[in-house]
Formats: sequence, C-alpha cells, structure tokens
Amino acid sequence: MSTGILVMIDRPTLGQTGPGEPFRVLPADETALRATVLAATRGDGIFETAAIRDGKVQAAGAHLARFARSAAMLDLPEPDPDVYTRAIERGIAMLEDASDAAVKYVLTRGDEEDPTVGPIGWAHVHVSEDFTAARRDGLAVVLLNRGYALDVTETAPWLLQGAKTLSYAVNRAALREAARRGADDVLFTTTDGYVLEGPTSSLVARFGSTLVTTPAEAGVLPGTTQQGMFAYAEGIGLSTQLRDIRVDELAAADALWLTSSVRLAVPITAVDGVPHRVDDALTAAVNAYLVARTD
Ligand code: PLP
Repeated sequence: MSTGILVMIDRPTLGQTGPGEPFRVLPADETALRATVLAATRGDGIFETAAIRDGKVQAAGAHLARFARSAAMLDLPEPDPDVYTRAIERGIAMLEDASDAAVKYVLTRGDEEDPTVGPIGWAHVHVSEDFTAARRDGLAVVLLNRGYALDVTETAPWLLQGAKTLSYAVNRAALREAARRGADDVLFTTTDGYVLEGPTSSLVARFGSTLVTTPAEAGVLPGTTQQGMFAYAEGIGLSTQLRDIRVDELAAADALWLTSSVRLAVPITAVDGVPHRVDDALTAAVNAYLVARTD
C-alpha cells in the first residue's frame, strides 16, 4: 500500500476555468488515470521531482520555471504555477511526515482516444528514501554513449534533449546497463567525446578552485541542485563555469559529483572501474548547505 498522497490536477494549465478547486486529493493506490492517457501510452508529457524538507519544497521556483521550459519545448500549454503550488501544498499538508519527502509532479497532453480530455496533471507527494550513505560513500559510474553529438539541440531539436519528459525508458535502461557492469550510476557521453550528465543527475567537476558543469546547449537538463551547488561555491570563493567537458579531461578532475534534488551531491568514486579522487570536505559542506536550502 502506498503511503504517498496523490493530488489530481484537473485544470493544470494557465487560463483554464471551472467550478471549485482545480485539483482533488485521491488515495495514492487508487487507479486515477485512464489506460489511454498519453502519459502512459506515449510518455508524452513532462515532470519535475523536487525535495521537500521540513514541509517546504526546495528550489520551488526553479523547478516550476524548468517545468514551464519543458512544456514549451514539447508545445504543451503552459502549466499554471499557482495551481501546482497549491496542489503540492495540499499534498504536503496531508503527508504524515513531511520532514524529508519529495514530490513528483506531471503534466501530460491528454488522452490518446478522447481529444476532449485536455491536459492532465498530478502531484504525488511521498516520504524520501534515505541517501545519507550515498552522499558519504559515493557511487561508481560507467561512461555510456548517448548516441548523438554535442550539437544535438541544434541538429535534432525534436529529440527534446534537455526537456524533462516522461520518456525515461532510455535513462532506466542505462542504469540497468550500469548494474550489469557492476557500477551504481552512469555518465552519458556524446559520440564526439564529451561528457553530458547522468540519467537522473547533473555532473559537477572540480578543477582546482573552479567548479564546472556541462551547459544546457549540449542537451542536458539544467540542474537545480547543480545551480545550488554553484551558488554555495561562489559564496566560499570558488569560481564556477558552464562549459563543455571532454571525456579525456575527467581523469584530471580533483573531484566529480552527480547532483540531483533528492539525492543531492553524491561523489563519484570510480569511472569505468578506475578509482577517482574525492573531496570529502566539500561534499559534506555542500550537502549541509543543500539540505538546509529554502529557495
Ligand atoms: N539531469 C537529468 C537527466 C535529470 O533527470 C535530473 C533530475 O532528475 C537532473 C539532471 C538533476 O536535476 P535537479 O538537480 O534539478 O534534480
């Protein structure tokens, strides 16, 4: 039985009107979606996953802004940030313990068989897994070819790289491939020798006193956690840089992390079986900052 709270959003996009509240709370383990909804049949939609700490969504504005960006990339109507915010707050209020939780919220285009069913949204609020060990002990990654070159967003924008779409089957397959190779996670690479991001995380590399991450133009998802880590780094006098990172530069990095909203900054301890140096002090300091983050 699910302990999460499901809030179905009947009027998820801007300008939709109707009687009563635009959302309703349902038991999370009750079937709430038609089998023909495009989220299920085509993966046609977008989502966000955000951390909830002490009852508040972290980086709420950044997640909503990225949600709107993904919607625009998929030619979806613009999600209503106020409706999503209130729906999520309703879910949080009903959660038994919202001290360390997460929300996944979704917008899908509609229904494959019934064009009168407009965009459908929902928010699922649930207690988080405990990632303390991963943050402390790190993860071994493998490099996996993503199958396109660094200029994918220019040459093939219809691939929607950099949008947070519901079509994550490739990302899941990559994680299974990592497990087959005895690793915990993945760093995607391009066909022309650059490193992109993980299947559910951004890459941050430290070279001396500079933190570096791959820019959105390379078709990666702009990470809210990476942005938080950069804000922290700048506050303690490090510099930060958005630039393309070549695979052959990785070995020279002083430290590497995978960053994501719920798991936060996890050190990479090995790349393709080769141990990589870690920066325990910065990892601990960044995660303390990220856990306490309220914006
Ligand atoms: N890149 C991808 C492909 C992701 O799916 C995610 C998060 O799920 C991220 C990066 C990290 O984004 P954030 O830090 O906003 O969670």
